Amino acid sequence: MIADAQNGKLNLIITKSVSRFARNTVDSITTIRKLKAIGVGVIFEKENINTLDSSGELLLTIMSSLAQEESRSISENVTWGIRKRMSDGKYSIGYSSFLGFDKGKNGRLIVNKEQAEIVRRIFSEYLEGKSTHQIAKELTEDRIPTPTRKVDENGNLVCTWRASTIISILSNEKYKGDALLQKTFVTDYLSHKTKKNNGELTRYYIKDSHEAIIPVEEWEMVQIETARRKQPSFKHSGITVFSSKVRCGDCGAIYGQKVWHSTDKYRKTVYQCNHKFSSKQKCQTPTLKEEQIKQAFLDSLNQLDRTQVLDDCKLAVETLKNDETPEKEATKLNAEIEVVVELVKKNPHMSQEQIDLYTAKYEDLVERFKIEEHRVERKCAAIKRVEVFAMNLKNAGPVVTEFSSKLWSLLLDKAIVQHNNTIKFIYYSGVENTVII
Ligand SMILES: [Zn+2]
Repeated sequence: MIADAQNGKLNLIITKSVSRFARNTVDSITTIRKLKAIGVGVIFEKENINTLDSSGELLLTIMSSLAQEESRSISENVTWGIRKRMSDGKYSIGYSSFLGFDKGKNGRLIVNKEQAEIVRRIFSEYLEGKSTHQIAKELTEDRIPTPTRKVDENGNLVCTWRASTIISILSNEKYKGDALLQKTFVTDYLSHKTKKNNGELTRYYIKDSHEAIIPVEEWEMVQIETARRKQPSFKHSGITVFSSKVRCGDCGAIYGQKVWHSTDKYRKTVYQCNHKFSSKQKCQTPTLKEEQIKQAFLDSLNQLDRTQVLDDCKLAVETLKNDETPEKEATKLNAEIEVVVELVKKNPHMSQEQIDLYTAKYEDLVERFKIEEHRVERKCAAIKRVEVFAMNLKNAGPVVTEFSSKLWSLLLDKAIVQHNNTIKFIYYSGVENTVII
């Protein structure tokens, strides 16, 4: 195409957008200058720029710098069209095997009631403390068809679930309703490796675009729980979702699970500080049987002054809800970002210095916006933790007689084993107590 232009076969090139024109800013600018020198103009439809206009190149520079990340993400011809639909509030999901939703008219998502139940089951079991492997195993045992809806050689739907499928379902934003679209995009033109869009691209956030399957707070709690389970200490041997909440009072390490007499009838499971024999200074904290920890938890739970604790929860939730600083800050920054973009668009006669200034300003605002957005998400999750705590404590009845992994998972933050044979229990509402083993 460039050669054709140089040979005089073309005098105007019409292209969809700056980001479609070349792989990166330097390429675009170089090519446009070359073409301009021989009198060939380029029109960018999306940005409404004609490079032969006096304003063209300046505007192009700023547009390119803003769209640099975007330009990297383009790897298919259809992308522009998809974005266009996104900004119009219409979009389609990229794949058909999407558990919980059917594709309706114009690619809109419609909840599939039967599949939505499976999604809810996955989210709630995960929060109750099951591992992704365990959830996958049980879904397989229950002969639940996988999201791919693939059929085996006998014509039956495939029911073999993998932990990786569970992980991708647990992290999918579409289940909380509002779609944060284009959250992954192709970052490497050649290798097609995808990476998360952390705001480098304009994010098209469509509020109430489709019905939620999982309440937003529960979804946020799952993300916090996933981050907790990703901690490096979780990778040590013998650490389970249960034991990860039990900590050594001496060194802070997690209590790992050890199996004694693993082959004979005296087999039993015990827990001890994972650093007990590895560090020079041995921790003095005791080795405990699973039953001892579970009984101590029941004792601790039954010793809580329910009325007082529930009142405290109410107060905590109100205080968190009343503080709207991060929301206000995010809204303000969002408005400022829009102003900067508008200013640049409407002011084509800026000097390079001004352009650099605006670009720096834009990048700074986006960075700060991301921080506030993250604060809002964390606040929502914190509120939900306390609310879920209060609800489960209320429903647990006045005396709990049997250990429940659900209560362990949804109420307890940490259990710290101390040397004088005591365990300090710290709950999600912040309340704590110490019981003798
Ligand atoms: Zn220790």
